[in-house]
Amino acid sequence: MKSRTKGINTICTHVGEVKDEQFKGAISPIYLSSSYAFMDVDVKRYPRYFNTPNQEALCKKIAALEGTEDALIFGSGMAAVSTALLAFLKAGDHIVLQETLYGGTYNLVVEEFHKYGIEYTFTKGLDEAAFAKAITPKTKVIYIETPSNPLMKVTDMTMVSSLAKANGIVTMIDNTFASPVNQNPLQFGIDVIIHSATKYMGGHSDICAGAIATSKEHTERIWNLAKNLGGSLSDMTVWMLERSMKTMAIRVKAQNKNAKKLAKWLSKNDAVAKVYYPGLKSHPDYELAKRQMTGFGGMMSFELQDHIDAEAFQKALKLIKPSMSLAGVESTMLCPAQTSHALLGEEERAKQGISDGLIRFSVGIEDKEDLIADIEQALAEVHSAVTLVES
Ligand SMILES: *Cc1c(COP(=O)(O)O)cnc(C)c1O
Repeated sequence: MKSRTKGINTICTHVGEVKDEQFKGAISPIYLSSSYAFMDVDVKRYPRYFNTPNQEALCKKIAALEGTEDALIFGSGMAAVSTALLAFLKAGDHIVLQETLYGGTYNLVVEEFHKYGIEYTFTKGLDEAAFAKAITPKTKVIYIETPSNPLMKVTDMTMVSSLAKANGIVTMIDNTFASPVNQNPLQFGIDVIIHSATKYMGGHSDICAGAIATSKEHTERIWNLAKNLGGSLSDMTVWMLERSMKTMAIRVKAQNKNAKKLAKWLSKNDAVAKVYYPGLKSHPDYELAKRQMTGFGGMMSFELQDHIDAEAFQKALKLIKPSMSLAGVESTMLCPAQTSHALLGEEERAKQGISDGLIRFSVGIEDKEDLIADIEQALAEVHSAVTLVES
């Protein structure tokens, strides 16, 4: 098993650069060509073959960050998810997926897989018995996501990979919420690591991209399908992503630190009924999170007390933006029931423990005092509105 050979900030800054041989500039030049020579060359390059100079360079950075042999980048996180899954599944195969998944992945499975004759089972729970029970003789892939969206449940990666290996099954993880800064699933035996690079890798809410980090053998298998499906990333965006990733580790570490402080502060606030953050000792998966994560991440969820309107609270925020998506340097909040998990329906949401008032909080890099002050003023405003109505 390969692990990181350099410090994470050095990898973020320097690994996977396109060398500027002509002018010796400090940063990677962008090669926008969609047409390359085919005679007398080692590699036939084309953007949809995932092998332009900028695409190849960035893949080296991502592979170095995850400690894998190779990597591929895609036009979106879902392009990475769908290509990885379809590369390992065909008609008659079966996949086990953990019960709480990113909404887009859930929709891909339930809306599309029946068209291809791929069978699937969502686990009931995240413990070993739940995974073992879901496996059938036809199971080819086990797919997990940890920490999960939005309740930050943690899945035991070693347990899943051991179970899969004993049954000749390939394991895949959506590692978006942790980012390669906080969690390297290869160390726990997971085979295929997927990222929505739209999130922490991009980090500035201005890029849509995806990535897969895995072995050379699996990369080749995924590439064979990827070039046919065509979900490659434009070199302009590849270059922006490389630029963003130079600061990924310092951004994510700042977000880890802010999130831990905010989670502690929220859990002591009378207006807050419950906080879901794997870095809190009160979180049921705290010990497991400590074993497999080097930082607890910038994502959490919380529930306000019943009498406080979650929507009014978010409207009263002045600094924190109520908005879709996550992991930017700016803090954002949203209600999963209205956004990421709206399509699940009320019953399924209730089953998964996602209440209408649950708020997901993506903590940015602002000063924590300002974030706290913003939440305090919003709570005060909602509280005074309630008192006005009552009196
Ligand atoms: C956003 C997200 C995705 C999908 O990524 P896109 O870039 O939006 O396609 C997949 N998994 C998780 C956990 C995400 O947060």
